[in-house]
Amino acid sequence: MDELNDWYEVIKQKDYLYVIRERIDKIDPRLYTKYTNMYLIIGSKKALLIDTGCGLFPLKPLVNQLIWNQELIVINTHSHFDHRGANNEFPTVYIHEKEEKALRIPMDVSWLKDSPEKRVKRFEINNYKFLPSQNVVGVKEGHEFDLGMIKVKTYHTPGHSEGSISIVTNKGELFMGDTAHYGAMYLPKRKELPIILDSLKKLIMIAQNNNIHEIYPAHEQFSVGIELLESLAVGISNIDSIWHKGVKDPFLLSWILEDEHFKYVIRL
Ligand SMILES: [Zn+2]
Repeated sequence: MDELNDWYEVIKQKDYLYVIRERIDKIDPRLYTKYTNMYLIIGSKKALLIDTGCGLFPLKPLVNQLIWNQELIVINTHSHFDHRGANNEFPTVYIHEKEEKALRIPMDVSWLKDSPEKRVKRFEINNYKFLPSQNVVGVKEGHEFDLGMIKVKTYHTPGHSEGSISIVTNKGELFMGDTAHYGAMYLPKRKELPIILDSLKKLIMIAQNNNIHEIYPAHEQFSVGIELLESLAVGISNIDSIWHKGVKDPFLLSWILEDEHFKYVIRL
């Protein structure tokens, strides 16, 4: 396999929506996650790229092929390594103002040196540090981008991280980063679980008020129905009752719990 050219999988989901996937388990299987999903929305005037993945291979040339000469806006749903890795390839990146700082400094990913996947040695070029993003612009709840024919709006949905955002289009799609997806859900500390529960309740309201019928999470399956939000809220609400079944994960420094729909990774 020619990894440089074949690393990203591009799926044309709709005329105006591409999914760009990468295999995060082939970067580090210890994360219990198979796919990271980035999304590219093409309006009549501008395009919006939601997240930039791990940055193991160049992303911008691929995006440029898909958008031709359109103006591109890049936004991160949050500042974790698997969503901002290729930020430095783009002149400007938007993120919630609570996570602006994290993009302005190098990010240490030296824990990847122990990954069984040898391709991560590509990160040696920058000594296992992600370069700071070039120009970072903070957004608040309610920030809107008009892409031409398609309008998107941001909502602050903290829990997975303090500045996690979700993005709603006027076409009925909801992009929500790591706030909800099937598979391994990375949650805050046990005492902070009410924060993500509040965000899930907020998203259920937003989905109802905006006629949302498709959810596009940043990991694993897409698109999924809004029942994801309800079943995750129920699952997190029941965590106390299964707490005694938890197992400590020394690599993730987390407590691992499972039910029939989700694996919960809860920070110690
Ligand atoms: Zn993630």
